[in-house]
Amino acid sequence: MEFKELKVMHSIMKALDEEGYESPTPIQEQAIPPILNGQDLLGCAQTGTGKTAAFAIPTLQLLSQSKQQQLGKRKIRSLVITPTRELAIQIYENFCRYGKYTKLKSCVIFGGVSQKPQEADLKKGVDILVATPGRLNDLVDQGIIDIKHIELFILDEADRMLDMGFLRDIKKVIAAIPKKRQTLLFSATMPPDIAEMANSILTNPAKVEI
Ligand code: AMP
Repeated sequence: MEFKELKVMHSIMKALDEEGYESPTPIQEQAIPPILNGQDLLGCAQTGTGKTAAFAIPTLQLLSQSKQQQLGKRKIRSLVITPTRELAIQIYENFCRYGKYTKLKSCVIFGGVSQKPQEADLKKGVDILVATPGRLNDLVDQGIIDIKHIELFILDEADRMLDMGFLRDIKKVIAAIPKKRQTLLFSATMPPDIAEMANSILTNPAKVEI
């Protein structure tokens, strides 16, 4: 299998070539086509399987191809939430690398540091925001971030987010983003609370288990 067979667009293929990615990993093979088709997705996968690219590649492609891309001011159209600062930075860096030949801008925010530099980054205009849940809600509450235009919402490491006590924050984010959207949920394990959350926020999801 090659990325081309998954209908990955040229500008992203070029970046993947430069990364030295020769072929998709199993989760990429299974997740990229339904995501590009606009389906919701429930992914049961650990870190190390290539799961970041499995959601970052089709997110970049969908946003590049959507009509909004041509219209005026940038709005945050994709939101990724993840439990830790380290994961947030890693995901953000991957979006930047895979998206270097697209016109999309990514940004990362996390707690435990001053919000000022993050505010300055956000002001420049962002298409894709990678965030930890607490800092995200802080900035939304302050009116610094507008999440009313999210088309694609991604929850990464959902089980870990619940373990870390982020359930209320996640619920608050879900209440503030549009109901009409595409949602991807990734979790290493599927305990009942995650299955329940998946049930309530995903519509007819494609299911991928690695
Ligand atoms: P992840 O599971 O997203 O943390 O990715 C694990 C590692 O695999 C990262 O270092 C990626 O750069 C790398 N990786 C992801 N997809 C591919 C691929 N298709 N070919 C080679 N390496 C990859």
